[in-house]
Amino acid sequence: MTNKRVAIIGAGPSGLAQLRAFEAAKKQGLEVPEVVCFEKQSNWGGMWNYSWRTGVGKYGEPVHGSMYKYLWSNGPKECLEFSDYSFDEHFQKPISSYPPRPVLFDYIQGRIKKSNVRDYIRFNTTVRWVNFDEETQKFKIILDNLKIDKTYSEEFDYLVVASGHFSTPNMPYFEGIDQFPGQVIHAHDFRGADPYKNLDLLIIGSSYSAEDIGVQCHKHGAKSVTLSYRSNPIGVNWPDGIKEVPLLKYFDGDVAHFKDGTSQRFDAVIMCTGYQHKFPFLPDEMRLKTKNNLYPDHLYKGVFFNDLPQLIYLGMQDQYYTFNMFDAQAWVARDFMMDRYQIPAKGARRLDINKWLIENEKLKSSFDHIDFQTNYIKDLLALSDYPDFNVDKVAVMFKEWIKDKDDNILTYRDKTFQSVVTGTMAETHHTEWMDELDDSKERYLYQEQAEDMLEDTLEEERL
Ligand code: FAD
Ligand code: NAP
Repeated sequence: MTNKRVAIIGAGPSGLAQLRAFEAAKKQGLEVPEVVCFEKQSNWGGMWNYSWRTGVGKYGEPVHGSMYKYLWSNGPKECLEFSDYSFDEHFQKPISSYPPRPVLFDYIQGRIKKSNVRDYIRFNTTVRWVNFDEETQKFKIILDNLKIDKTYSEEFDYLVVASGHFSTPNMPYFEGIDQFPGQVIHAHDFRGADPYKNLDLLIIGSSYSAEDIGVQCHKHGAKSVTLSYRSNPIGVNWPDGIKEVPLLKYFDGDVAHFKDGTSQRFDAVIMCTGYQHKFPFLPDEMRLKTKNNLYPDHLYKGVFFNDLPQLIYLGMQDQYYTFNMFDAQAWVARDFMMDRYQIPAKGARRLDINKWLIENEKLKSSFDHIDFQTNYIKDLLALSDYPDFNVDKVAVMFKEWIKDKDDNILTYRDKTFQSVVTGTMAETHHTEWMDELDDSKERYLYQEQAEDMLEDTLEEERL
């Protein structure tokens, strides 16, 4: 072990990728720095660690989780597969392309359970504040041990911010909404469709949360779902029961008035209006200030804070690629922290950032966005020994996914794709997604066998 110390904030997929990257270097016999990961929740997995709570958690901290019951992957799993730990290795059998949350949570945990990385994580520990000392070039981190209510501080040479950016709601105001008699929540506090059965539901927003929460509520029995867009509608072929309308102008009691002059009565409202990048533990000059986009400014290679490259951000981009992108970032960050990868001087870094920002500005279609993030992943993969994977083929799958959703938003999750890591073709799930109301791992993985066994027994009894 070197005498350098690395702090990681957050044990979600990004923070765990960083831990895994160091573990991989250790396995190669390399000297690694001392690594400590601080996680405010009592378990790892970040978003994937489902919380039934809303508002504040057990210790009064803002609840991080924005996931909900009946959440299924909204992209093919073949597009996020770890290239150093395949779905085949984890599940020992082919599974479908769109697993529910508990199955993906199980997969995320699989590769780290095989090592002792849990020992490096201090759970129930919130990072409260960070200072950087120019003289010593060290970060002083103020921490709260929530369980015993104790504040303390420690010093580190590098700081990896992997605290996610889909947790702090962006909650716009609309005239009259304060007098709306029904429930108004943000997607962050949505915990499943059950309360919306038989209700007329208004959703504000036209991105992934709006689409997925709208479709879930339709599937689980909402009377009607109306999606209200600001810039562009989602524009897929909606089934009866779901429609899109222009932006909400104001509420008069329980009646919503929209920009196109139409109006409708609603029982409940869900704001699917996105999230804020929020780092309440960082001083102004170290804080990443950005909207949700594919290439946040100030980050060299999308990770190194240009004014202070020892400050590293993971997973801060808007995401087509997720787990494999966090890995590719974490491997490069690790090599920088282990002096195996040198970054250029500040001015050259700025030019490189600018190049990506200019390209980002030119993007128009979702296919352009996919190609842009694909090129970004390729750029990263060339910089470390993270196992290469066929990124171009992943891009093709993303584009098919977009087309599938356009064709039929209710059946796209029944499609299957081929792994670029193992070549395995996904299985068709035992139940069509629209008929599957149970998102448990047990039902997903074993129900078919259970049904087969029951059928065999009944058959034997009949004979
Ligand atoms: P997170 O998963 O958000 O983890 C951040 C961690 O940091 C958390 O554990 C948090 O507790 C911790 N933390 C934050 N602040 C502090 C602090 N001050 N001190 C200590 N710890 C702290 N991606 C997909 O690939 N497929 C999907 O189907 C998908 N569905 C999604 C559905 C929803 C509703 C949302 C919101 C996101 C979804 N995503 C999906 C994207 C998801 O954000 C990523 O898959 C992934 O969870 C991001 O990982 P992360 O580690 O960067 O952040
Ligand atoms: P997002 O992609 O950032 O989209 C935010 C939406 O809010 C946009 O449509 C935006 O409209 C709208 N908006 C913002 N301010 C508004 C305002 N003042 N008035 C009206 N509309 C406003 O956020 P998201 O949809 O919550 O998605 C976040 C992440 O969660 C994504 O990574 C997604 O993949 C993930 N997710 C996944 C699933 C799943 O099924 N697994 C489900 C939900 C979410 P403009 O276009 O006008 O800016």
